Amino acid sequence: MSIRNIKKSVRDIKGYTNPPAEAEIKLNQNENPYPVPDEVKDEILSAVKSLKWGVYPDYNSVELKDVLSEYTGVPPEGILVGNGSNEMILSVYLAAVSRGEKILVTSPTFAVYLLLGNIVESELISVNLTEDLQFDVEALLEAKEKYNPKLTIIPSPNNPSGCILSMEEIEKLITAGDGITVIDEAYIQFTDNPDGVAALIDKFPNLVILRTFSKAFCAAGLRIGYILTNPLLAGEFRKTILPYNVDIFTQTAAKVLIERRSLIEKTIEIIITERERVYSELRKINGIKAYPSYANFILIEILGLEPKYVYEQLYARGILVRDMTSYPMLSKAFRVTIGKREENDIFLNELINIMER
Ligand code: PMP
Repeated sequence: MSIRNIKKSVRDIKGYTNPPAEAEIKLNQNENPYPVPDEVKDEILSAVKSLKWGVYPDYNSVELKDVLSEYTGVPPEGILVGNGSNEMILSVYLAAVSRGEKILVTSPTFAVYLLLGNIVESELISVNLTEDLQFDVEALLEAKEKYNPKLTIIPSPNNPSGCILSMEEIEKLITAGDGITVIDEAYIQFTDNPDGVAALIDKFPNLVILRTFSKAFCAAGLRIGYILTNPLLAGEFRKTILPYNVDIFTQTAAKVLIERRSLIEKTIEIIITERERVYSELRKINGIKAYPSYANFILIEILGLEPKYVYEQLYARGILVRDMTSYPMLSKAFRVTIGKREENDIFLNELINIMER
């Protein structure tokens, strides 16, 4: 068997990996630890039961886009939905970037931006975060000036460091150069501006926003994400998305989750309060450095011990966090998702035990 016929750009990359690991306390993928409330699940299930399963789904996801439009303030013509925001990233890359064209990213960043950037044979230009893992806006503006990238893609809040861009910084980035700027708002509901920069869409024709139901909205298992942009760009991205990409079950569930969001928003408030509590507890532990975060996770550097040892010790005690040591600038780091209060307490106690042993 030979893989000679496979593109070099694919042969050369490792592919997305996240070692499948079970744990009693799962704090590795930034999921909302609270389940969708039973009454909401029941509403979804009875709605799905009455649908015609033998008929293709609505190609344009009209009902879902209508509720997303009411939720975000963006007209339905500027909204696209897909199989997680990962699929939306691919759609934007396929539509905007030809082989050899430049994509500007920050580093460290969300691994899928790089993976797909390699597959579409783009040239990835990366600008490091500052030493204290904040966005280096000046360096980003310089890079935009120097390379005029076709696309700039930045998560704000940032995965994995938790830092954020201000509205003014985003405006500066959008207006530097004439490429597309994608702001990935996967974690926006955990900030003090849950509306994000959707209001800028009218003003800036090159702005694209990515959102997901996988984090705040308790629905990583459903696989649903969306794009917010202007109708012109949405129409072009639409051409790169496979027809019927969102099934009837997922369209229905996402619509009900938005309609019943007040119940989910309560869990988001609890997570934000917990994040602040966990952060201040982490700051009291010797031998580690915790970074402030606007998302539902915290990045932690282990200074006093071997980081892999701490990761493994946590895992041996039933706690799974995300090992970040292979990421640029993060050779001593792991990332912990904010769980339920009792889970966070167990994590904190075990971390103290390991560090003080
Ligand atoms: N963007 C960022 C910044 C993320 O951290 C993630 C998930 N880890 C995603 C997008 C992908 O989300 P989805 O589950 O919607 O594909």
